[in-house]
Amino acid sequence: MQKRTIKTVAILGGGPAGSAVGTYLARKGMDVVMFADGKRPPLIVGESLVPAVVPFMQDLGIEDEVATYSTWKGGATFVYNPEYRLNIWFDEVRGGGTPAYSYNVPRDRFDASVRDAAARAGVKVVEAKGTIERDGDSQRMKLGEETLAAAEEVLHGRQPDWIIDAMGRGRGIPKLLDLPVDAGDRRDTALHAHMQGVEVQISTNVHTDRLSHGWCWRIPLPGRVSVGFVLDNDFARSLGGTAEEQFDAFMEQDPMMSEWSKNGRRITPVMKYNNYQARVRQGVGENWALVGDSFGFVDPVFSSGMLIALQSAKALAEAIEDGSPRAFEEYQAYVKTNLDCWRNVIDRYYDGRLLTLFKLGQHVQQRFWGKLMSFHFRKHMPRIFTGDDVTNRYSTWLIEFMSTYGIYGHDPEEYRIL
Ligand SMILES: Cc1cc2nc3c(=O)[nH]c(=O)nc-3n(C[C@H](O)[C@H](O)[C@H](O)COP(=O)(O)OP(=O)(O)OC[C@H]3O[C@@H](n4cnc5c(N)ncnc54)[C@H](O)[C@@H]3O)c2cc1C
Repeated sequence: MQKRTIKTVAILGGGPAGSAVGTYLARKGMDVVMFADGKRPPLIVGESLVPAVVPFMQDLGIEDEVATYSTWKGGATFVYNPEYRLNIWFDEVRGGGTPAYSYNVPRDRFDASVRDAAARAGVKVVEAKGTIERDGDSQRMKLGEETLAAAEEVLHGRQPDWIIDAMGRGRGIPKLLDLPVDAGDRRDTALHAHMQGVEVQISTNVHTDRLSHGWCWRIPLPGRVSVGFVLDNDFARSLGGTAEEQFDAFMEQDPMMSEWSKNGRRITPVMKYNNYQARVRQGVGENWALVGDSFGFVDPVFSSGMLIALQSAKALAEAIEDGSPRAFEEYQAYVKTNLDCWRNVIDRYYDGRLLTLFKLGQHVQQRFWGKLMSFHFRKHMPRIFTGDDVTNRYSTWLIEFMSTYGIYGHDPEEYRIL
């Protein structure tokens, strides 16, 4: 691949990653067309955003609008069991480079805000499904005939210089080219619905509860609470035939959930997601690139998905502007490293080490050495919760080291996610 000048770009997928990369490219003066199929389920996951997303909202010029329909988010609450819970406050994170707050967002409205920002920046938004095809036997991509015709205003009948797959977990190009995908270790089912009357301990915090099986999120949204369970596939199937049956049965069965949902009422259908952990090995080709979930998604537990999607959008726009093979290699390496760093931390949530370490940290803080250490740790450890540069080598090493050696004498099995 040679260095090239890219002037026209077609994006397939009008979610946050597609809209953000479109905005950045249009701002750089490129002619951009984005296909958004508008096929959204009644509910979309990805409602709890980490603070590191806020600078992206500011950059896209949508924060004020998002604030009008969202819940302000000041921290995260981890519920270990009915007796113990831990609160993390974003404004206690020392030296963080991100704001000390974020938002819980209704996704349909958030996605519309990001899409409108793209249109304002000059992206031609076509509200239709876009199609792509393999160009002969090569690894090159081209737009389908109807899609090319629908982009006439921007492309004038010529294929675009570059094509971006922002189709989310639908992953159009990886499927067409049969690209290898690394699946994560977990085979989970997530069941998601909105409820009213559900209790939350702190109305501005996202809650992550360790349950008798798996874990669940409680995300306070205006007038409702988003509830989602993450269960292993076999256990989910054992609860009933439909997503609704599984959701309702488990809510009644789990002792902690049945308590906080005793006055609760489900007000939406239940959405189901399976086996979502995945990372495509090749993120860039001769005339195409993957962005957002299309490239990879790790896991819902630390709400990192939207941040990774927006970070990859920005990095891809820079690589396209540069146009050199090296810039695209760097983009690919950056996204892979980002996904891997999150994956390491997330694995330590599931094996019980992180919860053990954080609980221990609370006790140690009461003592003198503990206070000194805590001053240091507060700079690095909570990056997981704010999303502030999770790829920072020292922070990554410290989390790895502490969750291996810092919990010496304490069995992480106690807090393993079953
Ligand atoms: C169970 C679960 C819980 C999650 N919870 C969180 C969370 O709390 N916080 C968080 O930050 N992230 C969370 N995520 C991740 C988050 O949802 C995603 O990372 C984020 O939506 C990625 O954005 P995207 O634009 O890449 O993809 P998407 O949001 O999936 O957008 C892709 C869009 O492209 C459209 N499309 C697809 N094919 C075509 C086509 N051919 N033509 C036109 N349009 C097309 C789709 O309809 C869709 O609108 C969660 C994910 C899961 C699975």
